Amino acid sequence: MNIAITKTAAPKEKPASDILGFGKYFTDHMFMMDYTAGEGWHNARIVPFGPIALHPASTVLHYGSEIFEGLKAYRRADGKVQLFRPLENIRRMNRSAERMCLPPIPEDVALQTLTEFVRLEQEWTPSAAGTSLYLRPFMFGNDETLGVHAVHNATYVIIASPVGSYYKEGINPVKIMIETEDVRAVRGGTGEAKCGGNYAASNRAGQRAEEKGYSQVLWLDGVERKYIEEVGAMNVMFKIAGEVVTPMLAGSILPGITRKSIIEVLKNEGIPVCERRISMEELAEAMENGTLEEAWGCGTAAVVSPIGELNYNGKQYAVNNGEIGPVTQHLYDTLTGIQWGKIEDTYGWTMEL
Ligand SMILES: *Cc1c(COP(=O)(O)O)cnc(C)c1O
Repeated sequence: MNIAITKTAAPKEKPASDILGFGKYFTDHMFMMDYTAGEGWHNARIVPFGPIALHPASTVLHYGSEIFEGLKAYRRADGKVQLFRPLENIRRMNRSAERMCLPPIPEDVALQTLTEFVRLEQEWTPSAAGTSLYLRPFMFGNDETLGVHAVHNATYVIIASPVGSYYKEGINPVKIMIETEDVRAVRGGTGEAKCGGNYAASNRAGQRAEEKGYSQVLWLDGVERKYIEEVGAMNVMFKIAGEVVTPMLAGSILPGITRKSIIEVLKNEGIPVCERRISMEELAEAMENGTLEEAWGCGTAAVVSPIGELNYNGKQYAVNNGEIGPVTQHLYDTLTGIQWGKIEDTYGWTMEL
């Protein structure tokens, strides 16, 4: 795929690494590509970062046809920049596209355009400890008509944002509210697609939890509100009586790449791990009798986020005395070590630019 490049006439100043935060600053350029039924993907271009003009009837504004991905470019100690399992993100994006009737992008084209864009913007990858260049590919339906149907026109964009360390003052375990009213997804719905609509639907519960001093909600299944699904926008894992357990992928859970990587590390190291249904009843019992040893969320932004307290129906349970547990810490060190090139990548997960 040939990419037309228009460089910005006004490069921005790069922000200092201590003020980065998450998704506040953006690089000088963005990647864009158009899809038209019959013609396929075309007009691949890198242009100065800026607003996107949309027809007021554009599909995405009315019917929510939108999917996205999130991955990072990491600056290693030797100055080189690398990606972590980018093909996994591309494959997941195409599965999300299939669910939402958006057009898939051939894997080689998606990887080529992503790497060429990041290579052009790589100077924006910060080097301070824990910082990275967050990459946000997204796609939306862009038909200029109000008729409801699968899209015939779509737009694909990649933007990039230098982001700060998720943990500024060391890893702090978070307080989680178990959500018993709203649900995030149901089997057969869009829970396993990374689509914007899932987020829009989950904001209310998140806001209510925040008002009570909790940072995220733990979602239960949408049918019986009985089985554990995810925590906020992360997958969730528990260490119960020596074994790591995590909800199995059965259609309503987002298949996280961090989740998948952690399972591979645990299996490789001989630490017992099991993907299965976990009922709220089982978790409550493990909290009561003390066999719940550790709990954490996992996703690209935080890598692992230890859970220090769970609130279920108004009752508070401390996990590991509110401290990060040894397995949680080990997984954090292993994954971040590979991502920033501090330890050898024996899994072949990293891709140097
Ligand atoms: C993106 C996401 C995750 C985590 O996926 P990673 O690939 O590990 O970043 C988990 N749950 C939801 C709902 C997500 O959107």
